[in-house]
Amino acid sequence: MTYSDRDWNTIYEDRSVFPAIEHPSMVTLNTGTPQRNIVMGRKKSNGNIAWIKVNSDPVFDAVSGKIESVISTFDDITEIRKIRTDLHMNEGHYSDMVEAVEDYAIIRIDCNGIIQNWNKGAERIKGYKQKEIVGKDFRKFYREQDVLAGVPDRLLREATVNGKVTDEGWRVRKDGTLFWAVIVISAIKNKNGEITGYTKVTRDITERKNAEEKIQYQEKMFRSLVEGLPDATVIVDDKGIIRIVGDQCESFFGYPKDEMVGKPVEMLIPDDIASKHKHERKRYMNDPQRRFMNMGGELAALKKNGEIIPVEISLAPLQTSEGVMVITSLRNITDRLRNEKIIREAKDLLGLFVKHAPAAVAMFDEKMHYIMASDQWYQDYELSGMEIIGKSHYDVFPEIKEMTSWVSCHQRCLQGASEKNEKDLLQRKDGGWNWLQWEIHPWKKDDGSIGGIVMFTQIITERIEAEEKLKQLNERLVNSNKELEQFAYVASHDLQEPLRMVSSFLRLLEKKYRNSLDETAIQYIDFAVDGAERMKGLISDLLKFSRLNSKTLTKELVDCRVLVDSVSHLYAQQIKEYGVRIHAGPLPAIYANKTQIQQLFQNLIGNAIKYRGSAEPDIDIGCDEANGYWEFYVKDNGIGIDERYFEKIFVIFEQLHGKNEYEGTGIGLAVCRKIVELHGGKIWVESEKGKGSTFYFTILK
Ligand code: ADP
Repeated sequence: MTYSDRDWNTIYEDRSVFPAIEHPSMVTLNTGTPQRNIVMGRKKSNGNIAWIKVNSDPVFDAVSGKIESVISTFDDITEIRKIRTDLHMNEGHYSDMVEAVEDYAIIRIDCNGIIQNWNKGAERIKGYKQKEIVGKDFRKFYREQDVLAGVPDRLLREATVNGKVTDEGWRVRKDGTLFWAVIVISAIKNKNGEITGYTKVTRDITERKNAEEKIQYQEKMFRSLVEGLPDATVIVDDKGIIRIVGDQCESFFGYPKDEMVGKPVEMLIPDDIASKHKHERKRYMNDPQRRFMNMGGELAALKKNGEIIPVEISLAPLQTSEGVMVITSLRNITDRLRNEKIIREAKDLLGLFVKHAPAAVAMFDEKMHYIMASDQWYQDYELSGMEIIGKSHYDVFPEIKEMTSWVSCHQRCLQGASEKNEKDLLQRKDGGWNWLQWEIHPWKKDDGSIGGIVMFTQIITERIEAEEKLKQLNERLVNSNKELEQFAYVASHDLQEPLRMVSSFLRLLEKKYRNSLDETAIQYIDFAVDGAERMKGLISDLLKFSRLNSKTLTKELVDCRVLVDSVSHLYAQQIKEYGVRIHAGPLPAIYANKTQIQQLFQNLIGNAIKYRGSAEPDIDIGCDEANGYWEFYVKDNGIGIDERYFEKIFVIFEQLHGKNEYEGTGIGLAVCRKIVELHGGKIWVESEKGKGSTFYFTILK
C-alpha cells in the first residue's frame, strides 16, 4: 500500500500536514512497532474533515520472523470528537461563569475542608483574594461558637451522607464583620462514587434578612397594635377568612383567638344577615375604602354563646403582600341604642307633654324656628290647621318681626336671659287687645350651649276682666257694708233709748196698776217687758257686732290666763249654781285686742255653760303653739252639735233651738268668728251630738 502526499490530503489534530510516510500502517510496516490511537484528519471535498483513529499491529512470518503484513483498524471518531469539543468548550464556559459570578461565593473544598478554588463572588462576599485563601480551612468563615458547636463539621457530614446540605446562619468576613448566609454544600464524587471534595455555594442575604426582620418587626408592631385596639378589631382577607383578631374580640365574641383565626368571618355574624354580609363583603372588595358598614339595616354580631349584639362596624382597607384585606372594627352599641331609645322616648314624652300642656307652650331653636308647640298655643294664636313646626316664628307672625321689643327680648333670651311679664298687652288678629302673661327661658343642649328658647304664654284677658269686675263688686260691697254697719250702729244706738223708755214705762205700769189689772193684762205686760228686754239684748249684741271692724283694732299684750279668770268671775253665779268645773291649762300672752279676746272667751265659755248636758259641766280650756299662730280650744261636755250645723252656727242670727229652750240672739258665734278673723285666724267646731263640743280658734302670733 503506497500513498502520495498529494492524494493523501490528511492532517494532524493541530491542522499540520500529516505526511503519508507517517501513516501508522506505514510506520508499523517499516518499524515493526504497533501504533496506537493515532488520529488523522482527512479533508473531504465539501471542506469538512473526517477524523479517524488508527491502530496498527505488525504480523510476523512465523518462519523468517520478518514482518509479513500490518493490520490496521480505522475508527471514524468525527462525531465523538465533536461532542467532546463541545463538552470541552462548555466546561470552559462553566468554569468561566463560576469564576465570574459575583452574587454567590462558589468555592471548592477538599474532603478536609481545605479551600481549593475561589470565585469573584466569594471575594466580594467574604473579602479574601484567591491567593490568600486557597489552601486555608473553610471553618474560618464560621463564628467561634459555631465552630466549637461543630456546625461546619456537621454540615460536611450531612453533605457526605445526603450528597447535599443547606443551611442558614451568621458567617464571618475577612474584616471580622458578620453576614447572614444561605449555603448549599454538595459532595463531589469521582466515577467510582468516592467523595473527592465539596462545592460550597454561599449567598449573602443580610439585606434580605434585615428587610425580612424589618417586615416581621413591622408586622409584629401592627399585630400588637391591632390586638391592643380598644374596639374589637378583626382583619379579614379577600376571601373572608379571619387573619388577625384583636384582644377585645375574645370578650366581645366569647371565642378564644385561635378559634377565630383562619375561619370564615361569617362565623361571627348571625345567620339571617350572613348571606347579605357575604354579598356586602364582595361589594366592598370592589371598592375598598375607609367607611362605616352599611347594609341598609341594623348590624349585629353573633357571640359564641348564641347571643346577638347590635354593633356599629367601621371598615378600612389594608394593602398587604397577600392582597387587600379589611380592617373591621366593631363597637357594641347596645348601650347607645338603649340611650337613644330613652332619649327618643323622653323626647316623645316631652312632645306629648308639651302638646297637651294646659298652657300655651312653644319651643324654638336658636334661629327661632318652631320645634314643638302645645295645642293651647295653636288655639290661643289661631293657628289651628297650620303647619308651623320647622317654620320661623317671624314667618308665622310677620307682625312680630316688626316689633323690636319682642325681637330683642328673644335675642336676649337666646343669649341666656330669662324674662317674664305678668301683664302685657298684645294686639289680636282682629285688631282687639289681649292681656298676656308670658315667660321666656333659654333651653340648653347636652354640651351646655343654648339650643333655643321656650315660651310660656297665657292669655289672661278674661281673668283680668273678672278681677276688675270683682274689684268693683268688692268696692261696692265694702261701701254697702259700711253703710250697713253705719245703719246698724245708728239703729241700735237710737233704738236703745226709746226701748229703755218702753220697758221702764211698762214696769211703772205694772207697778202702779198691778192691783187694778186682771191676770191677763198683767201677763201681757210681763210678755211686753220680756220682749223689750230681749230686744235690748239683741240691740246690744248687734251693736257689739257692728262695732267689730279693723279700724277699732288696737292691739296690746294680753294674758289669756288673766282673761279666762276674769270671765270665770262674770259667770260665778252660774258656775256655782250648776257646779261648773273650768279647767284652764297654761295659756299664753298674745298680742291682740283685749276687749275682743275677752268677748271671745266670754261667748265660748257662756255657750259651754248654756248648752250644758245632764251631767255637771266640765269645761277644758287650752292652747297649743303651732307654726306662726296659737291654737286655742274650749271643750265642753254639753249637748253637742250635729255635724250638719258646724258651719251654720257661725252665721249671724242662726240658732239651732227654739226661743223657749235657750236664751240667746244667735249673734254670739258670729261675733267670735269676726273677732278671730280680725286677728288673722280661723274658728271651727268639732262635736258629736250628746257628747260635747270643742271650739277651736287660731290667733296669728
Ligand atoms: P246663741 O245666742 O243662740 O247662743 P250663738 O251664736 O252663740 O247664739 O250660737 C249659735 C248656736 O250654736 C246656738 O243657738 C246653739 O244652738 C249652738 N251652740 C253654740 N255653742 C254651743 C255649745 N257649746 N254646745 C252646743 N251648741 C252650741
